[in-house]
Amino acid sequence: MSFTLHGIGVSGGYAIGRAQLFSHDRLEAPHYVLRREHLKEEIARFDEAVATVRSELVELQDHLPDSAPAELSAFLDVHRLILEDTMLSEVPKRCIQEGRCNAEWALAQQTQALIDQFEAMEDAYLRERKNDVRQVADRLMKALMGHPGHAPVKPAAEEASVLVAHDLSPSDMVLFKRHNYAAFITDLGGTTSHTAILARSLNMPAVMALHNARALIHEGDWLVVDGINGVIIVDPDPAILNEYRLRQDQWRIEQQQLKRLKKSPAATLDGTPVELLANIDVPQDAAEALEERAAGIGLFRSEFLYMNRDSLPDEDEQFEAYRGVVRAMKGRPVVIRTLDVGADKSVLWLKQESVNPALGLRAIRLCLSEPQIFITQIRAMLRASHYGQARILLPMLANLNELDQALGLIEATKQALRDADIPHDPHIQIGGMIEVPAAALAAEWFAQRLDFLSIGTNDLIQYTLAIDRTDDSVAHLYDPLHPAVLKLIQHTLRIGKRLRKPVSVCGEMAGDASLTRLLLGMGLRSFSMHPAHLLRVKSQILRSQLADLQSLASRMLRAGRPDRIQAWLARINA
Ligand code: PEP
Ligand code: MG
Repeated sequence: MSFTLHGIGVSGGYAIGRAQLFSHDRLEAPHYVLRREHLKEEIARFDEAVATVRSELVELQDHLPDSAPAELSAFLDVHRLILEDTMLSEVPKRCIQEGRCNAEWALAQQTQALIDQFEAMEDAYLRERKNDVRQVADRLMKALMGHPGHAPVKPAAEEASVLVAHDLSPSDMVLFKRHNYAAFITDLGGTTSHTAILARSLNMPAVMALHNARALIHEGDWLVVDGINGVIIVDPDPAILNEYRLRQDQWRIEQQQLKRLKKSPAATLDGTPVELLANIDVPQDAAEALEERAAGIGLFRSEFLYMNRDSLPDEDEQFEAYRGVVRAMKGRPVVIRTLDVGADKSVLWLKQESVNPALGLRAIRLCLSEPQIFITQIRAMLRASHYGQARILLPMLANLNELDQALGLIEATKQALRDADIPHDPHIQIGGMIEVPAAALAAEWFAQRLDFLSIGTNDLIQYTLAIDRTDDSVAHLYDPLHPAVLKLIQHTLRIGKRLRKPVSVCGEMAGDASLTRLLLGMGLRSFSMHPAHLLRVKSQILRSQLADLQSLASRMLRAGRPDRIQAWLARINA
């Protein structure tokens, strides 16, 4: 049966493909209470899932190629034993009966109890067996959440797959860079969560904040993903499929047309040049920045070098990564941000116990509390600066003491390199991110001590409006056009102009072509965004007359009310 789900389109474009359900470490299970008369049926459903997994395992074993290592067969034996153990195949049924809960919930509870028991074991070998339990439980969960009573439908290799998850972390997304999904959709998350930012960097359509898509969609279902309007159509009928195939073609044509702008210099109609820089997450992204003719890298989110690993990258590894980008950019500026982890960007080697991590020991705060991590990174950046135009960017500054401490550590690191005759740029430029309202209001004093400022609108909006950027329940309140946000941006731009310190915007607002003309009118001349957005933003710049935009923008900033602000934006973009 066809049905439609609505969420937030966080990355544009259309995709048509089969659902591939994502099983996370943490078993995600819906929970509902059943009527007594349905308990028998639910237990039968659980038994059916056990039978499905049993035949899957037998089939896998029967089809092992001769060349497969012996351990693989032994490993499947272990999984069969785990499956048949009453702890997994019987106890959940008791839980369904006694707790009147659904099979998924019963399985998740029992799995967690088993994992806890394994984790408490002294013997390291036995402790590790928790992973086998988890894998078998994952299979069972998939069988339960797939078409009831049927083996999950695996998309054929040539069919596009759409990843369906309850939640995805930024580190999951980094891993997906290696896969070829056509799109992804999640129940949780907001437009400027780092997961969404990474989806845009993968240039694939994505819809988030769908609330219960993971529970409603089955493995192998056909899906249409409309990343522009935030709509998912499950099991579309042929007419809808045709309509979306047409839209997909149209989108591709538009992308092709934009490519014609590559060679045009980014300047307004009155000849004012505008700097278009790229945001990158991993060194390999520099190639795309060059391909789209970015004038440099405005934000290298270095934290992705620290993810999906249980130890920190050492100085040499970081140096190689930074030098790689600096060299690739051939003399163009490369702004490398110091480690910004915490909040939604978690790393395995950091145990976060903060009650509210977005307001806790994040970014520069963490670096100053762990100076050795900071110094190692600064040494690597300084060494890379010898090979081109590297610049250092400090994230999440809120008070001037933090800035003084960070500058002191950078100076001491330079001295150590000088003493050891290690080449570096002694005049490397140092900038600060304006992404906490306190820093925006105090921009004057930050700018006096720094070479440049970069406005991080994603966090600036989050912290100004008190809206967790990853929380789908408040995602509708996340508003780049809130007058308070606009005033903070305007104030920072004015300070930069007065003190002759360059200011750029590197948050997602810079890559949103519907805001380009407004930001130009407010005085912004340097935009840093994911390379995929660069040409769309450039197309707006090329049709802009600054004098008109300045007067419209200043009237818009006095409007206050959301409806009037929207009306002014429409006039600005007309
Ligand atoms: C921002 O906050 O706008 C920003 C660019 O940094 P991040 O999205 O990585 O927090
Ligand atoms: Mg930020």
